[in-house]
Amino acid sequence: MTDLAFDVINPATEEVVRSVPLTSAEETDAAIERARAALPSWRAVAPGDRARLLRRFADAVDADIENLARLEVANSGHTIGNARGEAGNVRDVLHYYAAAPERLIGKQIPVPGGVNITFAEPLGVVGVIVPWNFPMPIAGWGFAPALAAGNTVVLKPAELTPLTALRLGELAREAGIPEDVFQVLPGKGSVVGQRFVDHPAVRKVVFTGSTEVGKRIMAGCSAQVKRVTLELGGKNANIVFADADLEQAAATAPYGVFDNAGQDCCARSRILVQGSVYERFMELLEPAVQGVVVGDPGAESTEMGPLISAGHREKVASFLRPDSPVAFRGSAPDGAGFWFPPTVVTPDSPADPLLTEEVFGPIVAVVPFADEAEAVALANDTDYGLSGSIWTADVGRALRVSRGVEAGNLSVNSHSAVRYWTPFGGFKQSGLGRELGPDAVEAFTETKNVFISTEGK
Ligand code: NAP
Ligand code: MG
Repeated sequence: MTDLAFDVINPATEEVVRSVPLTSAEETDAAIERARAALPSWRAVAPGDRARLLRRFADAVDADIENLARLEVANSGHTIGNARGEAGNVRDVLHYYAAAPERLIGKQIPVPGGVNITFAEPLGVVGVIVPWNFPMPIAGWGFAPALAAGNTVVLKPAELTPLTALRLGELAREAGIPEDVFQVLPGKGSVVGQRFVDHPAVRKVVFTGSTEVGKRIMAGCSAQVKRVTLELGGKNANIVFADADLEQAAATAPYGVFDNAGQDCCARSRILVQGSVYERFMELLEPAVQGVVVGDPGAESTEMGPLISAGHREKVASFLRPDSPVAFRGSAPDGAGFWFPPTVVTPDSPADPLLTEEVFGPIVAVVPFADEAEAVALANDTDYGLSGSIWTADVGRALRVSRGVEAGNLSVNSHSAVRYWTPFGGFKQSGLGRELGPDAVEAFTETKNVFISTEGK
């Protein structure tokens, strides 16, 4: 490996998949300049034609789903089932926002002396910075609405996981999207990502990643009053009340946190259980955790693959000390690969890092609570506020607790969080702005107001 290229490692085998050239700062600047130059012609594409190009891009992704999914299995260790779903999500998000160019409707506002209209103008070049945990969907949530609104896009995948993003770039070109309208620039955050923040032609940065880096991006963007959307970390609560369907709550809890090996900002990594059913819940949770199928991510029956890298496995493992209160664990393969078994802990101090920090791996902490007020207080006892689940049979309580928990994405009797029809984003230090849903395109436009005098003054 040299400074000019990065060896992509298969996290399930530790074998090199491919070497990918790293984009330099100068090459990044040149790409941003090309993206700026491509703006006038892209925004001038008739709305119906821009919609058609996005639909063609969606169709190209659809035709390539198995290939994209296999690439993600090899690059990221995602289970093949998840990886197909992730590629399908890119297709769906492109189709969803393909409807936007023909519906970028302004307002005619009644004013004296003339006619007043508003336009939804594109911002310019949009820089999308993607983390390694969901390389395909997170890229699509940025580039699809940005392109739909008439912006050009430069996209930086995480250094560890560039392969599917590079393939999506090829598919866009095959679909007829001009080369400079959507460019994928694999490389380092400190080089390529930093140029997105610093280069004045980039008018918005869409960042998903750690809260620490997100804060630096926001500070950097402030120098140019650059628009920014941040999707950061989470320490999400799965709240199980005594009146819930306990069997269902326990059977699904492992998948609410161990999906993608816990490398999910929406992972429900704290399970809060009402004291009166705590023992019973733990009895039900143990076989559910032991039943999670961990292994070869390419096998159809696998439910959890490896962690992304040796370094990340070390970080996750560091949360477990010799005296950590481990209740029980699932299984994981031996040998090559960055494996870590699903692990359930029961910390008794609220200050335990297992309860306060985002582990971003397959470790979940279970904590008892006495009543509804305590459940909400515990759920909110974090700087984060991204997602969460509430399990109860009482619809009034479900709504009260949903309103009480400070998080952007909650689900009741379910762990569903990110659905492309609905807005996604965080409260508090989990982020700024919203992605997806019917309003996402607005975040990629500026409102321009034009007054036309009918009286010549
Ligand atoms: P990260 O270190 O923050 O990196 C995220 C992206 O930012 C990567 O592409 C990275 O490039 C780039 N980057 C790093 N330093 C940069 C800089 N100075 N300027 C511009 N870009 C820079 O996070 P990660 O380690 O990839 O992912 C794990 C974290 O992301 C977790 O904390 C997780 O919660 C969070 N996350 C949040 C969401 C959400 O939707 N809220 C989703 C996924 C992940 P390199 O590849 O070169 O490091
Ligand atoms: Mg990082």
